[in-house]
Amino acid sequence: MKRPSLYFSDDHDLFRQSIRQFIQTEVVPNTEAWETARRIPPAIFERMGQLGYLGLPYSEAYGGSNADFWYSVVFLEELARCGMGGFTTAVSVHEYMAVNHLAKAGSPALKEKYLVPAIAGQKVAALAITEPDAGSDVSAIRTVARRQVNAETGAEEYIISGAKTFISNGTYGDFVTLTARTNTEGTAQNGLSLIVVDLDSPGITRTKLNKMGWHSSDTAEIRFDEVRVPASNLIGQENMGFYYLMESLQLERLVAAIMAVSGAGLALSWTLQYLQEREAFGKPIGAFQAIRHKIADVATEIEMARQFVYHTCWLYTQGEVVVKECSMAKLYTSEMQKRVVDTCLQFFGGYGYMDDYPISRAYRDARVGTIAGGSSEIMREIIAKIVIDAVGYKRVYKA
Ligand SMILES: Cc1cc2nc3c(=O)[nH]c(=O)nc-3n(C[C@H](O)[C@H](O)[C@H](O)COP(=O)(O)OP(=O)(O)OC[C@H]3O[C@@H](n4cnc5c(N)ncnc54)[C@H](O)[C@@H]3O)c2cc1C
Repeated sequence: MKRPSLYFSDDHDLFRQSIRQFIQTEVVPNTEAWETARRIPPAIFERMGQLGYLGLPYSEAYGGSNADFWYSVVFLEELARCGMGGFTTAVSVHEYMAVNHLAKAGSPALKEKYLVPAIAGQKVAALAITEPDAGSDVSAIRTVARRQVNAETGAEEYIISGAKTFISNGTYGDFVTLTARTNTEGTAQNGLSLIVVDLDSPGITRTKLNKMGWHSSDTAEIRFDEVRVPASNLIGQENMGFYYLMESLQLERLVAAIMAVSGAGLALSWTLQYLQEREAFGKPIGAFQAIRHKIADVATEIEMARQFVYHTCWLYTQGEVVVKECSMAKLYTSEMQKRVVDTCLQFFGGYGYMDDYPISRAYRDARVGTIAGGSSEIMREIIAKIVIDAVGYKRVYKA
């Protein structure tokens, strides 16, 4: 029987059924093909755009649904239940990380040009912050966007040079929300800007990177050699990029946490089934107390994590600054998913180590959770600053 929920209405439940059906019929059957091809086809973005899945939080004026945040929670949970970290990443980066800034601070013309096709699934977006020599330390970003007047056209433009790495959707994507230095004299706090760049612009070189997991997501190193971009591609105000990033990282971390809990739950569900099917010493392995108690621990960890993440989502929907809770959620859930998937794989015995078993992919995919989107060490640094040093955070633009 359905239990009452503080957060989800009957309409959210109906939406859950529709997205679950979509994932089971149009995504899961392609797992092998997409993981082997090391990418997902553009057609699946278009399909998701047609179904309205790529614009859930965004304004109807740009093709979105302006749906409340719980629809996004449902969407992300069900997305992660495809069991393919790569697909989950490609879609969530596109919808919740790359175009998020555009939707919040982009000009109407920029939204028309990039947000509308992104929501329709006709253009795939990436977010490029990390550089070969600047990951956790955003202040070390060296990619430069120099503003000047084009001698021929008289129009203002940025000339961009530098390199980004580990960029999801970077190989096959259509445009990137780029973090670059627009004030080379300044610090990160007053020197970074966000600029939209078409990924087929002259001067861009993209190199696809090979990864341990997330195989169906493409990851790229992108080099910019004097790439020209209209100055109107600036998102929001010049030199305010650091604050935009810090604000949106909360959503990114919440999104990662929602998907980590769901991914851990999926691994548990596969394991519960296997415990009934596999026999040893004349009985199903699920009858052994050593295994049963471990499963009890796993189920408890997942449920505790889920409730904290829901609470953080609720605070987020109330417009609260949730730096502490989002950092805690990202830290706990990514570490938890790694532990849970490891424990679950153990109960598949040798089969768990075989590529044919989804738990093997889940193990590879979960590993990056404690690194990407802010490592566990960085999450601990943020939490320690808040808890020990009483550091506070202010809102830049409203969530
Ligand atoms: C598959 C994948 C996809 C990604 N997708 C994207 C993307 O789409 N866009 C994007 O911009 N980036 C992306 N990233 C980059 C990711 O966010 C970075 O890898 C991450 O922020 C860590 O940066 P780094 O790899 O440079 O590690 P570093 O910053 O060099 O850190 C190395 C180690 O030192 C630790 N460390 C660093 N500073 C401290 C400190 N102050 N205290 C304690 N320990 C510290 C780190 O935790 C880590 O363990 C992706 C990464 C991967 C692996």
